Amino acid sequence: MQEKGTISINTENIFPIIKKFLYSDHEIFLRELVSNAVDASQKLKRLASLGHYGKETGELKVNVSVDAAAKTLTISDNGIGMTADEIKKYINQVAFSDATEFMEKFKEAKDANEIIGRFGLGFYSAFMVAEKVEIQTLSYQDGATPAKWTCDGSTEFEITDGSRTERGTDIILYINSESEEFLEEQRIGSILDKYAKFLPVAVQFGTKEESVEDGVDEEGKTKYKSVTVDNIINNTNPIWTKAPSELKDEDYLDFYRELYPFSEEPLFWIHLNVDYPFNLTGVLYFPKLKNDFEVQKNKIKLFSRQVFITDEVKDIVPEFLLLLHGVIDSPDIPLNVSRSFLQADSNVKKINSYISRKVADKLSELFKKDRKGYEEKWSDIGLFVKYGAISDEKFYDKAKDFLLLTNTSNEHYTIEEYNAKVKDFQTDKDGNLVYLYTADAEHHHSFVQAATKKNYDVLLMNSPIDTHFIQHLEMKLDKTRMKRVDADVLDKLIEKADAEKHQLTDDEQTKLKAVFEKAINNAAMKVEIESLPAEAMPVTITMEEWMRRMKEMSKMGGGGMMGFYGNMPDNYKVAVNANHKIISKILSADEAQQTAIAKQAFDLALLAQGMLKGADLTAFVERNVEVI
Ligand code: ADP
Ligand code: MG
Repeated sequence: MQEKGTISINTENIFPIIKKFLYSDHEIFLRELVSNAVDASQKLKRLASLGHYGKETGELKVNVSVDAAAKTLTISDNGIGMTADEIKKYINQVAFSDATEFMEKFKEAKDANEIIGRFGLGFYSAFMVAEKVEIQTLSYQDGATPAKWTCDGSTEFEITDGSRTERGTDIILYINSESEEFLEEQRIGSILDKYAKFLPVAVQFGTKEESVEDGVDEEGKTKYKSVTVDNIINNTNPIWTKAPSELKDEDYLDFYRELYPFSEEPLFWIHLNVDYPFNLTGVLYFPKLKNDFEVQKNKIKLFSRQVFITDEVKDIVPEFLLLLHGVIDSPDIPLNVSRSFLQADSNVKKINSYISRKVADKLSELFKKDRKGYEEKWSDIGLFVKYGAISDEKFYDKAKDFLLLTNTSNEHYTIEEYNAKVKDFQTDKDGNLVYLYTADAEHHHSFVQAATKKNYDVLLMNSPIDTHFIQHLEMKLDKTRMKRVDADVLDKLIEKADAEKHQLTDDEQTKLKAVFEKAINNAAMKVEIESLPAEAMPVTITMEEWMRRMKEMSKMGGGGMMGFYGNMPDNYKVAVNANHKIISKILSADEAQQTAIAKQAFDLALLAQGMLKGADLTAFVERNVEVI
């Protein structure tokens, strides 16, 4: 038999196009060919199990080998093989629904995956690296004759009788001169490790030395010898393909170590398993968070029927879960997935919300089953949960029951519990509940202490996301305000109907204000006379909550209005306590003394709040040394 013909596409010549436009990601040709070999093996298995194959299938195995001298790379399988007619049907007729469509689309295509996927060009990706491709194949069917197909990358192909004597297929690539890297064992080994590590059919790449027990020596010690064994590069039965009931914690941890050899143990994991309305399996792990988030991102590996596709899962996994680790496998995601596909696909959106729901369910279960353990992990998982609550409405609805607020005494409360805890003391005269918080209890020590004395509770909000989380909580919680402890003097943080009054006349107030303004001599410091408990500090410096938040947001990169606030100078309020005993002293002193006392009181406030720095601090210390 001998036949020559033209590959049926209507465009002039597709291969130069493939080569020219798909220069990135050349390595995926190997993924395509190996997965074709796996498909062929699995098809045979299925036929056998359905009783359509009378003979023994034997051990099904894919073999990848390099012949550096001949400059060939061969992918072999003992799967179903092809008859000459099947080659014509499956290989020669490139599956373009429409060649003009192809010509239109390839111009816009951004990556190889997109073209290969869109036009079913898996096999032809071989021409990205080969100047000639040969197929030697023998179909499983009774009486089939071996066939050989060759093509040099033009649209001309040739089919003749082949030489294969065993069922299956060899795909032989004559590697072109620009692609000789694909003749290097190490390069091929690492590509296989990336894409084929969990394929369901054994993939052999050469051999390796293994040390095995070899009896005992005279002293009774076990002896070892080195033997050469097949180098099977994959684990055909990874845990995500098994039922959770078959697996122990140790299996999950082992698998985690296999995926991320140098990582700390994960906190917990979620086994995903769904078959309707889409198909998805996987295991997601919650890692211990490190400070450098970016390094930890993109650790989730996406598979399609155990073939690795990508670790860019931005579009499949909700953003707040990108820090999770693990694997997701969905046959509903095509092998040659491209960004634009993922963004448009409706299954992907469903997968996204499914994962989000599963994570919420798992957290809820952990919280209910083992509150103490959950609290211990909170510093690691809190960030996910808060981020999720902010970015995903549905997640918030679930998370509000297991979202923990931590106070400065390191006690954890759910939102509901916290409400109950603080509502008696922290409701203001208008019926608003005021949550007090600090990002740094040390720095705000004097404020925290004053609040505690008044039976107020102070929350610790020190994670990188808390600025946003605070805004979100305020939006979500009814009649609830969030105020940082230094947002105002104590009595004004939570305004009560029975606020203290002071006895100063208008005249005295005006005078006092002038004294302090002169002593402070800084326009950004707005002096106000307040009525505070006599034992409170004579002067307190505060920054209004709203303004401070706007500034913080703008620092974190909000543009527009936010940028505007960022450029405003820091404006502080200097609250002078009209009820403090130094006030009468100031009012009765002479001018020079007045300024000195006011300055001292102001500097003490700065000092207490960690704001006294540089030359001012030095001057303060010198002044006080003189007093001793
Ligand atoms: P796809 O895998 O998406 O069908 P490909 O271009 O990768 O597209 O392969 C085209 C077809 O060629 C396959 O569907 C299969 O019928 C056939 N084929 C490719 N490789 C093999 C193989 N190793 N054994 C048997 N058939 C194969
Ligand atoms: Mg294929």
